Amino acid sequence: MADWEPVVGLEIHVQLKTRTKMFCRCANTYATEPNTQTCPVCLAFPGALPTPNETAIEWTLKLGLALGCEIAPRALFHRKHYPYPDLPKGYQISQYDEPLCVNGTFAVPGDDGGFEVGIVRAHLEEDAAKTIHSGGATGRKVGSERSLVDFNRGGTPLVEIVTRPDLRSADDAKRFLQLLRQTIVELGISDAEMEKGTLRVDANVSVREVGETGFRTRTELKNVNSFNFVARGIEAEAARQAAVWESGGEVVQQTYDFDAATGTLTPHRTKEEAEDYRYFPEPDLVPVEPERELVERLRSELPEPPGARIRRLEAELDLDRATVLVTGGLDTLYEAVVAAGAEARAAANVLANNLVGAGVDPAAVDAAELAKLVEARDRIPRAAFDEAIGKSGSAGFRADPYLAETAVSSADELAPVIERILAANAQQVETYRSGKEGVLGFFVGQVMKETQGKANAKVVNELLREKLRA
Ligand SMILES: [Zn+2]
Repeated sequence: MADWEPVVGLEIHVQLKTRTKMFCRCANTYATEPNTQTCPVCLAFPGALPTPNETAIEWTLKLGLALGCEIAPRALFHRKHYPYPDLPKGYQISQYDEPLCVNGTFAVPGDDGGFEVGIVRAHLEEDAAKTIHSGGATGRKVGSERSLVDFNRGGTPLVEIVTRPDLRSADDAKRFLQLLRQTIVELGISDAEMEKGTLRVDANVSVREVGETGFRTRTELKNVNSFNFVARGIEAEAARQAAVWESGGEVVQQTYDFDAATGTLTPHRTKEEAEDYRYFPEPDLVPVEPERELVERLRSELPEPPGARIRRLEAELDLDRATVLVTGGLDTLYEAVVAAGAEARAAANVLANNLVGAGVDPAAVDAAELAKLVEARDRIPRAAFDEAIGKSGSAGFRADPYLAETAVSSADELAPVIERILAANAQQVETYRSGKEGVLGFFVGQVMKETQGKANAKVVNELLREKLRA
């Protein structure tokens, strides 16, 4: 059997969080009562004229610069025609052959030096309204009893980013998306949440034999709502295509929905020919000509890219930990905690596991107080540590009262408890001795329960290993 490699390009839609919509002054908040944020412009009443949102244009330029794009000296808005109930004008104002941002490169750090993803373009357009299919079993269009349209979303600003087919695995696609999302969030232009639809990803997938240079027929994955599902969808689709080629068949250009619950791909429709959107320049809008001064000011205001920060932290941690910290928005606090004297790895672990697990807002935490907790985490009882972490985001939090508590570290005190637990769980002891060392966590949990969280976790771990070896 040949070795097949996936070839993946992504199309990403980012909903900008501007105060108002793209071409009118309606509020950009569609989470309100349906059809309350509308006006003659976004409902396409005859004679209504669009006025572009300056902030949306600036934010698109910002994003383009963060993606390493060239900013076009002149960009145009086009009308993209297609008939659909969620599009009252019968066309969407989008950008076609003269987009705002082109030819970018986005670097993703990795163990082997990382990889770069080419950005074909980033352009600005208006979103369609939201169609809700209700009644019927699936919640989808087919089989529904009625379709309703909420025009609150209609006309809100949307940036579309198109990458080159530079991704070679599902995992690379996921890492790229995580880093892209973090970049967008840090620019302050969108919440970029896939679950809420403010970030939407379509993947173009094909496969080829390793060593092959051309591209084969690709298919499109749509309606995927998390990074993990994007990765799993790409994996499933690449495997399906490889099997088709292996069996002497032919991959057909098609759009699929990936159902994460069952891992299955459902075909959308066969594209018999490229759709004709009859693009033509929007006659009611003048070309956008970004001033050089503005572009340079935006460039100078860009924050340090997340990818660069991952590289910096990787030096003292490792790639995975550095990525978790940066893409979790934890790295600023991490650096402050380390600067306050905490050991790097311990600080990273406490932030990524305990702090996130307790749902604490990293921006609210006093780094010096957290550094004390990190330092004392093996010394104080687990229960006290957990409680302190949970409260570390509250105003005026002080670590000192918790540091005064001491964990039970004496082997003499802990040994009888441990022996009792091992004796009561012979089955798990056997499992551990057969090589499944993950069971250790179960025993630690039991000891903590018995001692009401007062045992020193490090000593418990050591004692357990010792006794289980015997
Ligand atoms: Zn409006």
